[in-house]
Amino acid sequence: MTVKAGVVAVQGDVSEHADAIRRAAANHGREAEVVEIREAGAVPSCDLLLLPGGESTAISRLLSREGIDEEIRAFAESGKPVLATCAGLIVASRDAKDDRVETLDVLDVSVDRNAFGRQKDSFEAPLDVTGLDEPFPAVFIRAPAIDAVGDDVAVLAEWDDRPVAVRDGNVVGTSFHPELTADSRIHDLAFFAEPGASA
Ligand code: GLN
Repeated sequence: MTVKAGVVAVQGDVSEHADAIRRAAANHGREAEVVEIREAGAVPSCDLLLLPGGESTAISRLLSREGIDEEIRAFAESGKPVLATCAGLIVASRDAKDDRVETLDVLDVSVDRNAFGRQKDSFEAPLDVTGLDEPFPAVFIRAPAIDAVGDDVAVLAEWDDRPVAVRDGNVVGTSFHPELTADSRIHDLAFFAEPGASA
């Protein structure tokens, strides 16, 4: 069965995410048709949705200008799976503590933008993630930290004692960029694995 995968493409790593979704789908004997989302109208017919990293101020401005923001809110509320990474996590959050980012409030966390310090602007770390048997090679690029999580949010991974991967029901958020290695287990976890199952 083919799944229709929407990748928000107003900014950020679109083709890398598309490849990771295709690989994760293939692991489950499925095919993914990837739709790049640049304007309103395409989100509702997708089976899953990915919000990539980039620059959260720009992404939130473009989503609201194009009217895609409301469609993403409705999509997340419908219970279909969403993965939001790095700047995507910031945009998906409840509070980014920055007036220039209009958050979607589909993930009950608050975040600190660029929280991982200047000398650590970019780094890779082996991350223990709930549901994965082996550490995930996580690439952090001017990454946000999650500083508060709602009651229904499960912390899946921490780095430096701060949550960097969370699940809020059907919405998974990561501070890091899971599309930048050949490892598609985070996409698998967010989109194809049963919640709570080992991917
Ligand atoms: N620092 C960026 C922001 O605050 C996020 C960086 C990223 O997505 N790699 O929007």
